[in-house]
Amino acid sequence: TEEIMHRTEKLSVVGQLAAGIAHEIRNPLTAIKGFTQLLKKEEHNDNAYLEVMLSELERIEDIVSDLLILAKPQPSKMEKVDIGLLLEDTVDLFSSEAILHNVEIITEIELADPYIKGESNKLKQVFINLLKNAIEAMPDGGTITVSAMRTSNGRVVAKIKDEGIGIPEERIPNLGEPFYSTKEKGTGLGLMICNRIIKNHGGTISIESEINKGTTISIFFPSFGPSKIPANIK
Ligand code: ADP
Ligand code: MG
Repeated sequence: TEEIMHRTEKLSVVGQLAAGIAHEIRNPLTAIKGFTQLLKKEEHNDNAYLEVMLSELERIEDIVSDLLILAKPQPSKMEKVDIGLLLEDTVDLFSSEAILHNVEIITEIELADPYIKGESNKLKQVFINLLKNAIEAMPDGGTITVSAMRTSNGRVVAKIKDEGIGIPEERIPNLGEPFYSTKEKGTGLGLMICNRIIKNHGGTISIESEINKGTTISIFFPSFGPSKIPANIK
C-alpha cells in the first residue's frame, strides 16, 4: 500500500503541474486565437491587435523556456566553483539592464576560500533569476547588494538584498510554487527553478522581507573546505 500511495502522490503532483502549465499556456493562446479571428474578419489590420498577439506569444515563449530549464537532467558535472567570481560574472550580465532601471548593483565578496562544489551554469541560472526579481521589485530603482561570506559553522552563504516592494509575510510560503506570480508578465517559475537547483546542490534558501523596505534572499551552500574536495574534482 505504501508504494501505491507513493505513486498516487507522485501522479497528483505531475497532474497539478500539468494543469498549471495547461492553464498558463491556454490563456495567451485564447487571446492570440481571438485576435487572429478579428484580424481575419476586418479589412483594416490593426497594429494594436498584433502588439497584443506578440506579447502573448512572448509570454508562452517565457513559460516554455522556464519549463525547459526545469526539465533538464539533474546536475551531473559538479566541479569546483569560485562562488565570488560566479557572482561577479552574473552581476556583469546585468550592467545594462541595471542602468535602464536606475538600479545600482554592489558586490561584497568576503571569502578567503571562495570555492563550493557545484555546477556553474545552473548556479548562474539561480542568481540570474534572483537578480531579475530584485530589479523587478524596485520599479523606482535603488541598490541591490550581492554578498558572499562564510557562516560561523563553515558554510558559504550568498545573499541578494534589494530595497524593493517586499513580500507580505503570509505570501512567503507561496514562493516557489509553480506559477505563483504577482507580476503581470511573470511566469511564477523562477523561484521554483532556484529551489530545485539549490536542493540539488545540497543547499538551502531563506527569505527575509519587509514591505516597502526590501527583500534579502540567502543561499546557503554546504561546507566544502579545500581538504574535503575529492581528487576527481578539479
Ligand atoms: P516571477 O518573477 O515570474 O513572478 P518568481 O518565481 O521569480 O516568478 O517569483 C514569484 C513571486 O515572488 C513574484 O511574482 C513576486 O511576487 C515574489 N518575489 C520574488 N522575489 C521578490 C523580491 N525580490 N521582492 C519582492 N517580491 C519578490
Ligand atoms: Mg522571477
